[in-house]
Amino acid sequence: MSSLFQRLMSPRQSAIGVEIGTSTIKVVALRPGAPPVLQHAVMVPTPIGSMRDGLVIEPQAVATELKNLLAEHHITTRQAVTAVPNQSAVTRNIMVPRMERKDLQEAIKWEAERYIPYPIDEVNLDFDLLDDPTDIPEEGQMEAVIAAAPSEAVARQVEVLRLAGLEPTVVDLKSFAALRALRGNLLGEHLNKQTLVGTNYTEAGEVALVLEIGASSSVISLVRGERILMARNIGVAADDFTTALQKAFDLDFSAAEDVKLGYATATTPTEDEEDLLNFDLSREQYSPARVFEVIRPVLGDLITEIRRSLEFYRVQSGDVVIDRTFIAGGGAKLRGLSSAISDALGFRVAVGSPWLSVQTDQANVDTGYLQANAAEFTVPLGLALRGVQSS
Ligand code: ATP
Ligand code: MG
Repeated sequence: MSSLFQRLMSPRQSAIGVEIGTSTIKVVALRPGAPPVLQHAVMVPTPIGSMRDGLVIEPQAVATELKNLLAEHHITTRQAVTAVPNQSAVTRNIMVPRMERKDLQEAIKWEAERYIPYPIDEVNLDFDLLDDPTDIPEEGQMEAVIAAAPSEAVARQVEVLRLAGLEPTVVDLKSFAALRALRGNLLGEHLNKQTLVGTNYTEAGEVALVLEIGASSSVISLVRGERILMARNIGVAADDFTTALQKAFDLDFSAAEDVKLGYATATTPTEDEEDLLNFDLSREQYSPARVFEVIRPVLGDLITEIRRSLEFYRVQSGDVVIDRTFIAGGGAKLRGLSSAISDALGFRVAVGSPWLSVQTDQANVDTGYLQANAAEFTVPLGLALRGVQSS
């Protein structure tokens, strides 16, 4: 079985997942249990100017903020899993001749050299077998997913965590973390029967598309059950909506962000939405209809990127029917985004439900807050799950 998608059977240690995002630093703390028990899900804005292209450029400033966040919420677990920025991560599915697991390391490195756009000696390389060698005929090929990131990017993440007093145990990819957190949706696993009632989930054999939209980066993944078919960065993220508003209305970034959060919709605003969102006459220039016109081209780019990624997959691997689409990351909270994607591509789209993978009943967290921020916490929860599994 794929280690990127490990079962939640016998987690033995507490762990935290730390995502240092361009917009917010997020921490999810889990205690062992089956499923693991959620103890904290907290976030704080990332210091302005401390990140570039998803990478921390002011390690001390970010570490201080992270340290304060942990202290404020009395989070004492030191074992931490974090992720490299999507901008630094590359994954590819590759075929290798059938061989024993122990011989794979060298073979994969050699194969990876052909696909990874960085010098192979300057990357951290990891892989996971998607096929069991014992199921493959003698002369057959097996599929593996390889993940690579510049060693420099990995070292930067480790440095920030250490400066905050943490002990980094795994540096993962955000795309894999999102898939791990959404296994309730993707596998229809009845981890938490109460909350699964009425929730979307994929049936056996169906293909799901997961779109994680962060502030500065997004990833599209295709999965069939536990099998990763593709994970690919796409060039449109939630900050692009803010930047479009910034330009159109001549605002600074944070004022444009307020306009986005207050008035933006991903579908033509209805009259009710106009009335509801446009209560303040002095802000009439930000009417939902005007705001929608400004962000519409960015939405168009997002749809184009999704189409392009599917085309890329089809060229490589053949046709595929998308049965379900789950969106995650703060960008998924744009009003009406599920419907907009659904209308454009004809897919069934829903915001993912990460909390299906954990017990939340005894948590010292407010369930309203968890539901409202499920999208942002998808990646850090997936990171924390990796931590409680790798014992
Ligand atoms: P990255 O992973 O790209 O470095 P991040 O992890 O900090 O960034 P998230 O926390 O997932 O990003 O998402 C933040 C983004 O989501 C911001 O661009 C923010 O404006 C956007 N966002 C959050 N809530 C909403 C909302 N209600 N409507 C529209 N956009 C929203
Ligand atoms: Mg993010």
